[in-house]
Amino acid sequence: MACPEDPKSNRLLAALMAADWQHWRRHLENVDLRLGQVLHEPGRPLLHAYFPTSGIVSLCHLVSSGASCEIAVVGNEGIVGTTLFLDGGTTTSRGSVLIAGQGFRIGAQMIRDEFERSDSVRFLLLRYTQALATQIAQTAACNRHHTIDQQVCGWLLHSLDRLRGSEVVATQQLIASMLGVRRESVTEATGRLQAAELIHCARGHISVLDRAGLERRSCECHAVVKKEYDRLLPQEPAAHPANAAWRAGMTQPLFTAPRGTKLQPRGKTDRSFQRSGARAGPASVNSVSTP
Ligand SMILES: [Zn+2]
Repeated sequence: MACPEDPKSNRLLAALMAADWQHWRRHLENVDLRLGQVLHEPGRPLLHAYFPTSGIVSLCHLVSSGASCEIAVVGNEGIVGTTLFLDGGTTTSRGSVLIAGQGFRIGAQMIRDEFERSDSVRFLLLRYTQALATQIAQTAACNRHHTIDQQVCGWLLHSLDRLRGSEVVATQQLIASMLGVRRESVTEATGRLQAAELIHCARGHISVLDRAGLERRSCECHAVVKKEYDRLLPQEPAAHPANAAWRAGMTQPLFTAPRGTKLQPRGKTDRSFQRSGARAGPASVNSVSTP
């Protein structure tokens, strides 16, 4: 495995309250997210929830012919495994690694317990779930109403949002499979984007030369989803402490209070603080050891 990344590179893990973090850090396991690795299959119980810190996980729906279509992507802003805390048992989608990276995972029962135990964890995960639902709904509308050129632009923008740098490692065949369209259609679309000097394609690598140009050429879908993610979720970890807009939009106490801040427990939280102390066990071999 490459050098472990900071778990707080994931925006949800970075947003945990200090008390929650002290509990979670013992249970998080650092994992590689390998290209093509399947994290969950339709109809099968999920064993873990994953928090990517780099790379991208694609959530796809499959139809009986064997074809598939991407319904959402998850990167360092989110979690793979929402069905665990929603108590749905299984899901009808497949979650697989689209772009390799790293992440942290936590056991299925652990995240169910945390969702019940902590008001702040539940609030954070439900807000993420609402943002994810927006992405899924907007993807459905986009597939039905917008051109393939617009969809390719949107797909690249969603990928860029979750990557470092301006290069996306993806073949035209992969993009076609994610969008549920013919490869030739993607070849034509990327050809037009190259001619407009917005991107450069070479050997499965797409370099974005002009992001603003891609945004102008895209439909509204990427902007709609991004706006909703920004509204509902904490911002990039480094920027988060100063994100007054996000704080102002919250209807619950901020759960990323600076270290040393005395938190006012609410309702069940009193009980949960006691339970968390009783449950704390020894760190596993791969658990997080950073403070
Ligand atoms: Zn669209």
